[in-house]
Amino acid sequence: AENTPAIVVIGTGLAGYGLVKELRKLDKETPVIMITSDDGAAYSKPMLSTGFTRNMDAAALVQKDAGTMGQELDASIWTSTKVTSIDTDKQIVTVGDQQTQIHYSKLVLALGADVIRPPIGGNATEFVYSVNDLLDYDDFRKAVERNNVKKICIIGGGLIGCEFTNDLLNGGFEIDTVDPLGYCLPTLLPEQAGKAVQAALEEQGATFHFGKLVTEVNKGANGLEVTLNSGDKLACDLVVSAVGVRPRIELAKETGLAVNRGIVTNRLCETSATNVYAIGDCAEVNGHVLVYVAPLMAQGRALAKTLAGEATEVSYPAMPVAIKTPTCPVNVSPVPRDAEGEWSIEQDGNNVVATFRDPSGQLLGFALTGEGIKQKMALQKELPPIMA
Ligand code: FAD
Repeated sequence: AENTPAIVVIGTGLAGYGLVKELRKLDKETPVIMITSDDGAAYSKPMLSTGFTRNMDAAALVQKDAGTMGQELDASIWTSTKVTSIDTDKQIVTVGDQQTQIHYSKLVLALGADVIRPPIGGNATEFVYSVNDLLDYDDFRKAVERNNVKKICIIGGGLIGCEFTNDLLNGGFEIDTVDPLGYCLPTLLPEQAGKAVQAALEEQGATFHFGKLVTEVNKGANGLEVTLNSGDKLACDLVVSAVGVRPRIELAKETGLAVNRGIVTNRLCETSATNVYAIGDCAEVNGHVLVYVAPLMAQGRALAKTLAGEATEVSYPAMPVAIKTPTCPVNVSPVPRDAEGEWSIEQDGNNVVATFRDPSGQLLGFALTGEGIKQKMALQKELPPIMA
């Protein structure tokens, strides 16, 4: 196999590993090399925001280590190895020190997404944690223990911020959550549904500070002092930043690949360079950037077939997202941008069924909270596919 150019996959997250699992069902022969800058442990990233509820630290979340994955997938897995450049003419990737070059027959970018870091001043920004992968999560859990943390300030009241709010409440912490917009999950939910989630989390003890930005984190007399742009100050022991992610496009950009919000691909997950593909959080597949598990699984299944010789386009059914706020569970199928229509909302306490229909009555999206999530199956059937 020494001379057979391999399929090279950069990234061992759910996208990278998911793809190679699918590929091995179809092709057991072609050499596969996987390269990752982390330790290559297989884990379920969505479980990072349920760790206190389930009482699982980073070690407990590791499903399989890189060695085991390599054996199971018959792949060579290079851990702690960062790809620094790609030559798409010669079909070579270079890692780390510029000494090591790997020739590929096909290259798959499964690079994930970076957290967005809001600009924050002050003398204690090293106590601002973001939890975007297993190594971050390990750091965060250890910092919580080391500093005997009791009060946590969360920056961001979106999907990840609300999930952490609920999870850390379950872990027994006091929580303040700050968001510049007006209610929970403001970019995903209509106001009544977002306020229902807010009310449920407040009943569990959360305090929200909406319409405000965190400007500084400083050392205080007792722990940390978080300053908001309103002038308010909050006391806490640790800060978690959860304001969203953006696809990792830098490497692709330096390589000269077409990038937009993500690495641009067609429905075959092909980038603008021959034999180079992108999947998962880093990819913008036919105009869609969807940083969730269901889309990357659909991409992995289609691309595995393509790599095995049967060109297969990705298609997406409706893919509602479950938000892990167990005190008030949420299921949402976001309304496509620029869609015409209006919300119709039924509410009973924190239980909301909100449906968005176009003028002809076609369902285009929904937002369900609390007991409202029971409607999910029926409504999902009415939704058009995202990409038929
Ligand atoms: P990643 O898992 O980020 O993998 C990226 C890989 O690329 C890593 O192995 C990294 O080391 C490697 N890499 C990057 N650059 C380089 C380089 N230059 N050289 C070498 N290696 C490199 N989605 C849902 O659908 N449902 C949920 O409930 C849900 N909950 C979530 C909760 C949290 C807290 C978070 C953070 C996300 C959640 N998501 C959820 C989103 C979901 O987890 C992601 O969409 C998914 O895990 C992305 O997988 P990925 O393989 O694309 O990226």
